[in-house]
Amino acid sequence: MAAHPDGAHPDDAHPDDAHADGAHADGAHPDDQAPYRRDGTRAGPGDGDGYAGPATLTACETQFAVEVELRGHFQPIDGRYHWYGRIAAHPGLSSAVGSARTAGVLTTAEGSAPCELSDPDPWGRIRVTGTSTPPFATELTAGPRGPAAAGWLPAGAAQEAPGAGTPAALPGHVRVAIIGAGFGGLGAGIRLRESGHTDFVILERAGSVGGTWRDNSYPGCACDVPSHLYSFSFAPNPDWPHSFSRQREIWDYLEAVTDRRRLRGHIRFGAEVLSARWDTSACQWHLQTSRGDLRADVLISAAGPLSEPALPDIPGLDGFPGEVFHSARWNHDCDLAGKRVAVVGTVASAIQITPETQPEVSRLVLFQRTPAWVLPRRDRRITAPEKWLYRHLPPAQRLARLGIYLSREATVGAFVKRPQILRGAQRMALRHLERSVADPALRAKLTPDYVMGCKRILLSNDYYRALARPNVEVVTGGLAKVDGYTLIAQDGTAHDVDVIIFATGFHATDMPIAQRVHGVAGATLAQTWGDDMRALRGTTIPGFPNLCLVIGPNTGLGHNSMVHIIESQLTYILDYLRTLDRAGVAALDARPAAQDRWCAGIERRMGSTVWATGGCVSWYLNAAGRNPTLWPGSTLRFRRATRRVDPSEYDTIPARETDVMGAHP
Ligand SMILES: Cc1cc2nc3c(=O)[nH]c(=O)nc-3n(C[C@H](O)[C@H](O)[C@H](O)COP(=O)(O)OP(=O)(O)OC[C@H]3O[C@@H](n4cnc5c(N)ncnc54)[C@H](O)[C@@H]3O)c2cc1C
Repeated sequence: MAAHPDGAHPDDAHPDDAHADGAHADGAHPDDQAPYRRDGTRAGPGDGDGYAGPATLTACETQFAVEVELRGHFQPIDGRYHWYGRIAAHPGLSSAVGSARTAGVLTTAEGSAPCELSDPDPWGRIRVTGTSTPPFATELTAGPRGPAAAGWLPAGAAQEAPGAGTPAALPGHVRVAIIGAGFGGLGAGIRLRESGHTDFVILERAGSVGGTWRDNSYPGCACDVPSHLYSFSFAPNPDWPHSFSRQREIWDYLEAVTDRRRLRGHIRFGAEVLSARWDTSACQWHLQTSRGDLRADVLISAAGPLSEPALPDIPGLDGFPGEVFHSARWNHDCDLAGKRVAVVGTVASAIQITPETQPEVSRLVLFQRTPAWVLPRRDRRITAPEKWLYRHLPPAQRLARLGIYLSREATVGAFVKRPQILRGAQRMALRHLERSVADPALRAKLTPDYVMGCKRILLSNDYYRALARPNVEVVTGGLAKVDGYTLIAQDGTAHDVDVIIFATGFHATDMPIAQRVHGVAGATLAQTWGDDMRALRGTTIPGFPNLCLVIGPNTGLGHNSMVHIIESQLTYILDYLRTLDRAGVAALDARPAAQDRWCAGIERRMGSTVWATGGCVSWYLNAAGRNPTLWPGSTLRFRRATRRVDPSEYDTIPARETDVMGAHP
């Protein structure tokens, strides 16, 4: 937030300022009546939100590069956020606006919002006002976050919209209910709104949006896909600070997108979906949530492929007297300084946590069952001129995104057809290891014995260097049992620690939401699947009409951005809704034969992939050794396969009489 440096806004002294605040019926914004905060208290002097700097104004079908000074506050009287300010004198703009009130869109470095302009003052400055989402970060959107903000809220405690005093009630019935407010659920909401659907709700069990990027607040958490690509194609962010974004930056991005796309009114926080049952007679989903029940014609589950932490079953763990937590539920109250800490696991989170915690702990023991292939991360700060370019010439950012996409996509053949191509990258990783670790014994422990790509390839510049420090010990073979403060490794060695951090990944192959969704026959999706999840085009399942999964079975990637896959699925889901309307039916039910055909194709292609042939056991595989998580192909192939619904792959369930009469909005 680019508030005025001394906290006093330049507009304070201006005589017209009062009129700029649309929240005050009498036009007054007296100094003794500072704006209210969301909690009902008054803001102190210099408090509040604002922005001063360059902006782009689109008005009268023209774009103007302008300088603005803005401020804003939440107004409890009408429950909306009001923002207002001045655009510095600009001859072209003054003559375009004239004396009439004019609508426009103002875009600052922090956001974009519709606004209203009114006639220039004697100094040639133009007044600008707006309500709801401001074009700058606010106290409400950029406020302190962390475990408390992210924590599961009790029913009724959530805040859906900035300033909403009482959380909005659940609707009784919606056309579409979406589970989850991560990339998948938010993307679904945006695409629904864009295509004219307004009758939908997003049910989120936590207290804020963000999913993965809200929950994984461990030190060092960052994305391993460059930011320009790991973001929505329809909501680019010209201001990414790094080429590989940190967790907080992605979380901020998702918060800002939620505001800018006016999704907040559709979200119900603290609403955990406890069960979803297909009601055959009503042809609807009946949802039970922690905030009450509702019905939906169509259910989109975007509950996340990696949202439920997996903890290994370690004998004696219950009796461990120290602190224990999972990387995805980081305990920020636990001070690690000077402690003896065990990190269990070598998945992506362990690689990021280890270098961050090693310098402050007295001793770090890494329990490694299998070493990972680690490549250097080509990260850098994105420069101010680049950001300027992306802001003022959006095609330049689209080009950058395309370049990143194509360079990643070019590697797909190595993963799915010819794993031997990855040998070059293997050599690069071995050089990285040699340069970072001098001790041959440690290097041997850290050298993988399987083909690169079989497990997720990890990126880090400092993981190996941290492991080479004298306060670190790498224990191979994994953690076998816990006895008081003592951790016994599978090789029999004993290690006393004060804190255990499990970096052991997630329930990836069993999709926990499947235990809560009941189909036509009453059985849950988990029962229907057994140990082997399958879906038609990664999205729909026979016997579960009008249920669409975002990041369903066999949609994961080893080489590219999951946001690309999510967007492909959203296109398919929107066409699913159009197909329902076009056919005038209540529901579509995937045909078992269509699903079998789809899965057989996946199986055929899976045989040659590095995940099947690389000689490792990974979290991609289920207990039977099948890979139900990854997509064995290019993202283009997946996009083509999900461009539209093929009606021949579905049985239709006729509309009830009321629907035929036009009950659907
Ligand atoms: C640490 C980490 C790093 C990652 N890095 C990358 C990367 O570099 N590149 C990449 O492509 N992918 C990465 N991923 C994968 C990432 O999960 C996806 O890219 C993407 O964020 C998934 O979005 P989603 O909306 O499907 O799921 P999530 O982001 O997991 O969101 C799911 C949401 O559903 C909510 N929810 C779940 N169950 C319920 C319920 N019963 N009721 C109500 N709400 C519910 C959750 O609270 C959550 O908010 C990473 C994942 C992790 C964990």
